[in-house]
Amino acid sequence: MVNKILVSACLMGFKVRYNGSEKAEVIAQLARWQQEQRLVIHCPELAAGLPVPRPPAEIISACGKDVMHGQASILENTGRDVTEQYRLAAWLSLRMAQESGCTAALLTDGSPTCGVQFIYNGSFNGQRKSGMGVAAALLSEHGIKVFSDTQLGELIAWIKEKDHESASASRSQAIS
Ligand code: SF4
Repeated sequence: MVNKILVSACLMGFKVRYNGSEKAEVIAQLARWQQEQRLVIHCPELAAGLPVPRPPAEIISACGKDVMHGQASILENTGRDVTEQYRLAAWLSLRMAQESGCTAALLTDGSPTCGVQFIYNGSFNGQRKSGMGVAAALLSEHGIKVFSDTQLGELIAWIKEKDHESASASRSQAIS
């Protein structure tokens, strides 16, 4: 069975953040995975009905897990509370991942939804803090391994290992 990867839609078009020298490798790898029909391209915020363009939103002095556990809010820079829309976005990303058989996710860092290694701290002044966005936190809590767009190397290694495990399991089943 192919190990599928949920991918932040905004990463496609190969606008992945990378060091210059890694560009060719990133493009080639995403193209290979797309050819193998391994990628499930998804934007949780659009799926939840948020408009394009939309005002910037940040998790207020907390992280995605706190929002999903009802202990924190997400506000737009206009002051509008969009916590419920972002919670819905997270649940929709989990449903998409589970229904498509994804075992991993490659997500855009910094987003209050997709952030994996960092998010913004809620003061709308560009200050980062470590922590996950709502979708990354929920996916992770449900056993889907999440990687940021700067962790492509780790994801490649992880997928190779998972494919190897899947192939071994299939061989064992065939023999027994
Ligand atoms: S980072 Fe934002 S725009 Fe990109 S896929 Fe995630 S929710 Fe959508």
